[in-house]
Amino acid sequence: MTLLRRTTSVLFTLFLFALLPACSTENPTQTVSEADLVILGGVLLDMVADHADPKPLKALVIRGGKIDRIILADSIEAIPSSLNTIQADSNFILPGFFDAHVHFRPWLPDASIWKRASSYYGITTLFDTGPCGDHCAESGQDPNEWIKAYKDFMNSSAVPDGPTLFMTGRRIQSLDGTHPLGVKLSSRGEVATYLDSLVTLGVDGVKVESSLSAELRTIVMEEANARGLPVVGHSRDANESIAAGMKFIEHMWPITSSIASSDPGEKFGSPQHDHLMALNKAPELIRSLVDNGVYINPTMMGRHGYFAESMNGEAAVDFQSMEFGGLFSDMPEHDKEGVRAWWARADEMNVDQIEIYKESLRKVEEFLILFSEAGGKILVATDSGEDKLVGINLHREMKMLADAGIAPYRILLGATRWPAEMTYKNELIGTIEQGKQADIVLLGSDPTTDIRNSRDIRYVIKAGTVLRGPTDCSVIMPPVSVSCSE
Ligand SMILES: [Zn+2]
Repeated sequence: MTLLRRTTSVLFTLFLFALLPACSTENPTQTVSEADLVILGGVLLDMVADHADPKPLKALVIRGGKIDRIILADSIEAIPSSLNTIQADSNFILPGFFDAHVHFRPWLPDASIWKRASSYYGITTLFDTGPCGDHCAESGQDPNEWIKAYKDFMNSSAVPDGPTLFMTGRRIQSLDGTHPLGVKLSSRGEVATYLDSLVTLGVDGVKVESSLSAELRTIVMEEANARGLPVVGHSRDANESIAAGMKFIEHMWPITSSIASSDPGEKFGSPQHDHLMALNKAPELIRSLVDNGVYINPTMMGRHGYFAESMNGEAAVDFQSMEFGGLFSDMPEHDKEGVRAWWARADEMNVDQIEIYKESLRKVEEFLILFSEAGGKILVATDSGEDKLVGINLHREMKMLADAGIAPYRILLGATRWPAEMTYKNELIGTIEQGKQADIVLLGSDPTTDIRNSRDIRYVIKAGTVLRGPTDCSVIMPPVSVSCSE
């Protein structure tokens, strides 16, 4: 009897302890510690659901760089006090954007342009899938060492005003591969040794080239899976990628190869290759891609942007941003020339060529609509770097996909949750959920009704630190932000 009473008493005490946290939230002055940052009001697009699910908010509470509490508008929960608050009013609150396909270039020794441009355009995460480019090819510098130094610099706490940088290191190619910065491998042993060196370096993924044989591609997949690393990159044929277990198709030409009406010859990989796409064969391939959970990264902007009607007027925006006082004004002249030359590519084409390119784009768009409507996941990742500007191109990629006919919410998933999933970073980022890193963008208008509103950026927050606010108009820019022109 005594034992029973004592046990009951202990249980009652435990019950009281269990009640304590619930009681304390109802009296904020008692035990709730001050939050680092509180966003008041706004409409939350947490990107957790597969369909738009806007939630009016009472407050979003940030502590220690993480999302601590999500208090919905109809909740009776008290708002913790904080010295730092943002009045979101009718703003839309989304996860920070993630560009999962960029190529870091040594534009400046301190990479300040990359940090500034990413923060300005709401990008809180970048994934470099092949660093250094011509610079390392010419200087003989090792791209892996080069990008590791950049990654450490970008991610160090001394540099809070930039995105998180993830990286793959040098790409893997076969012995007859022609990429100047690729690593040539031919056996399982060589693949294992190289991947071990990448793990030591601290990579977040592995990049492969089209030249890999089907056998070597499968070996790379197996060895990467064993090390918990995602594999991104090029291939010759989507079916070959699927068979090897790849979950990522970069650019459209592997898709086109799988369903082309004839051999493209030397046009392989160009928009003239996409022109050969036989769309009657698309449904079968799409089923296989969706069933196998393969993400497609079409790089619309990189491959079609310079002749696409949806990009009319955007070249002038880039040119203006490279002028004195613009966001990219301190880019080296050599790299500015690269950007200008890229936009001028269509000038060298005759009317017939332009028509073929436009027809190719129409086929790509039609394929992507079918893919998206079948549940396929399109990544909004830009291939920015050498001659395409980081930051703004993510919004252009979104616009091109919207103009193709992809639903805006699915486009936003492709710039937030899906790249986080593809790179195995979804425990950390990609959605707004309790416990995740507080990477947040506040937009002044609804991007699910018009994707162009993705540029209406009011605040950019990375790990709880405000990188851009509505009055940060110190950089003279084209009118990309309503808030800056107010
Ligand atoms: Zn690329």
